[in-house]
Amino acid sequence: MSRRGGQEQASGSHESEAAPKKRKRRRGGDEERPLVPIQWTEYKQERVLYVGCEGESTEPDYLDYLAKRFGSGERTGQPFRIVPVYKENGLRPEQVVEAVRRYAETDETWALFDRDEHTRIPQAVEDAAVDGTEVCFSHPSFDLWLLLHFQAFGGRQSGRSADVVEKLRKSDPAFKDFAKRNDKSVRGPRRQALVGRTKAAIAHAKSLVSQCEHGSCKAGQHKATPVDRTSPHNPDHLPQSPSKWAARSGHALDCKVLGRDPSTDIWRLLASLGIEDDD
Ligand SMILES: [Zn+2]
Repeated sequence: MSRRGGQEQASGSHESEAAPKKRKRRRGGDEERPLVPIQWTEYKQERVLYVGCEGESTEPDYLDYLAKRFGSGERTGQPFRIVPVYKENGLRPEQVVEAVRRYAETDETWALFDRDEHTRIPQAVEDAAVDGTEVCFSHPSFDLWLLLHFQAFGGRQSGRSADVVEKLRKSDPAFKDFAKRNDKSVRGPRRQALVGRTKAAIAHAKSLVSQCEHGSCKAGQHKATPVDRTSPHNPDHLPQSPSKWAARSGHALDCKVLGRDPSTDIWRLLASLGIEDDD
């Protein structure tokens, strides 16, 4: 599957950058005083998440932003490290699930993929349900999650991302050239543009669940709790039916994944990490 120049990778650099760093405390001019480390014991144990990404740029960049902004746990009380798994030129949804579980072994796994032109989404969800890989599905694309930082959105997109991208370009000058000349990165000014908008993005994404055409879907009461993948035969956790697994975002059991148009589950990843706000 891998080819020259396009190997899958679980990024080591992101890994080290996302790890919480002990800070040296220095007080004005008093260099003789012993350095006192922050008491990390007051925080919960660091969570390690392997996150498989369909895209090679937008999603890994966004995850890096999340890790840098929230990974220390100082804002949320939950330190975490994200190891993105992706491949040059992208992965198909079913490949995302397969790749992330290969790298993660028994660590926590998440899979991010889009509707786009793919037809094998149900298969990918089925695969994910077998071993407790969390699914963050976006319809039509991950770009919708970025757009929701700036505005609410609605209306069937039928898998086309053009309208979302067009609105995203107009939402902030930093995104003016998003997806032009193949630049779908989320770095520098684009990251800055997202700051302070997390709460709105989560609210907008949850409201899309409530607005789902199915009619019985509701995001509000569905909390994302970490899945224990070290006990694969634990009947309380795994395996689950694909429909039950895909309903963890608040969609009804019989709400077909491909019918969730538009929607994005990325808010569940943030909820799981205790990220509610970033003011
Ligand atoms: Zn639904």
